[in-house]
Amino acid sequence: MLITKLKDQETIVSLVTGKVFILNCHGCKEVSFPEQEANALQKELQATGNVTGILTTDYICNPENIKLRLSYRQSEIDAADTVLVFSCGIGVQTIAEYLPGKKVVAACDTVPLPGFQGVTPLEYDCKQCGECYLNITGGICPLTACSKSLVNGQCGGAKNGMCEVDPTMECGWERIYRRLKQVNRLDMLKCPVQIRNYATKVDVTE
Ligand code: SF4
Ligand code: SF4
Repeated sequence: MLITKLKDQETIVSLVTGKVFILNCHGCKEVSFPEQEANALQKELQATGNVTGILTTDYICNPENIKLRLSYRQSEIDAADTVLVFSCGIGVQTIAEYLPGKKVVAACDTVPLPGFQGVTPLEYDCKQCGECYLNITGGICPLTACSKSLVNGQCGGAKNGMCEVDPTMECGWERIYRRLKQVNRLDMLKCPVQIRNYATKVDVTE
């Protein structure tokens, strides 16, 4: 289980370039989904005439469910430059994987709450860091794809594409580089240094 909170409106608007297709996940909505704020923001985006479609469904982290639902809306997705996802980090990662070549961005930050997150069968993971970095890493989570949870690029220890900490796994930052290249967003690697804000981690046991 988890809590999602909306990124600030300025950030979300800056992420949306050109036409946009919007995806809302209501899978874990009963825990906390910023529905009213999300609806208000989506109405504003619709008023600009740049929204090609909105899909609201549950458990976008369920691969079979989402593959089918995306296929029904393919023409609206094709017409969009950006896919804006209102979900937890796992949902965004799932969509980024299923829409290769498309700019997929996260509208929410995921805040921890003990318990099971989503229904995805372990292909994707989210540490619920409270400050989602997926918008600068092409939809691959740097906290879980990198053994050291680095948020500012590769450590330099990878050998033949494999992680120096765990040689059985691909270096997460090499994956991020390839994904950014695929979506023509290598410029993201030049963005300012990310200083991780550990204060966003919520201790729900307090
Ligand atoms: S950066 Fe990773 S751990 Fe943090 S919210 Fe996004 S997916 Fe989750
Ligand atoms: S080799 Fe890659 S995945 Fe492994 S710790 Fe270094 S940057 Fe992270």
